[in-house]
Amino acid sequence: MTDAIRLVAAMPKGATTRFAPAPTGRLHLGHLANAIFVCGLARRAGGRVLLRIEDHDRQRCRAEYEAALLDDLDRLGIAADEPSTGELRRGPSSYRQSDNGAAYHAAADALRAQGHAYACDCSRSTFETWSAANGRPWSGAGCPGGCRDRRLDDAPGLTVRGAVGDGDASWVDVLRGPSSGPATPAGDLPIRDRNGNWTYALCVVVDDLRHGVDLVVRGDDLLEATPAQIRLGRLLGRQSPPVFAHHPLVRRPDGSKLSKADGATAVGELLDAGRTPEELFGEAAHRVGLLPTSRPTSFDEALALIR
Ligand code: GLU
Repeated sequence: MTDAIRLVAAMPKGATTRFAPAPTGRLHLGHLANAIFVCGLARRAGGRVLLRIEDHDRQRCRAEYEAALLDDLDRLGIAADEPSTGELRRGPSSYRQSDNGAAYHAAADALRAQGHAYACDCSRSTFETWSAANGRPWSGAGCPGGCRDRRLDDAPGLTVRGAVGDGDASWVDVLRGPSSGPATPAGDLPIRDRNGNWTYALCVVVDDLRHGVDLVVRGDDLLEATPAQIRLGRLLGRQSPPVFAHHPLVRRPDGSKLSKADGATAVGELLDAGRTPEELFGEAAHRVGLLPTSRPTSFDEALALIR
């Protein structure tokens, strides 16, 4: 097996990282692979792991999925340093996004007060019309409707965008090496969507800042999201961006992305069917290239594969 960590020297000593599932479905093998990378890198850095419930999208997240997720973590024996699953079950928490609207509101207000956020009435069809007229999709700062200059009053049904600028942002990726990408591949970054949800980008950047997260470990499907998040963090007063670690995803046999809709990989159902946590850790580790074959592996042994 190849060593997973390329830039050991870049690992923040005593790092704070997080396992941050969104309760939009059941925990699946992809989450297990992520937990192995998160906890393995945290151990390697002599750091700690936070558990964060990313339920910013009020239309897609459900309380019963959160309850199942916490139960699945307990059944697997995966525990964060903070908070415990019991603490999350007991009530509101600083680690559940739906309990922390005030923090996202304050961040959006601060951006707006500094001229870094604006209301936008562009819809998907505004982008499509622009793209048809120009023979390419909108990219770079702004939006096709020029909404930043129009200074629209904020209102329900409008998007709020953060003006994160043009060009590339670069970062240190301990699993991929030095990395960079465009900050605005499809226009300025939505921080509140048309349904009134604070977006994934705003919530993770605000949470990573307020919880002191300096190591972000996640699947490489989020690579494209990273440059804008680095820029947004800077606008919100972050002195230096977190160190990132983007790891391979567990994929379907045809190479497509696994989702929570893939019942065959739902951890709870596999445990109900008699599979052991060790079999599932071994399977997850194998499917992201940490083990040459799938064999029963304790969580502890799986974490030691991150070196
Ligand atoms: N909540 C995201 C997910 O479930 C992870 C967010 C992140 O690591 O930035 O994929």
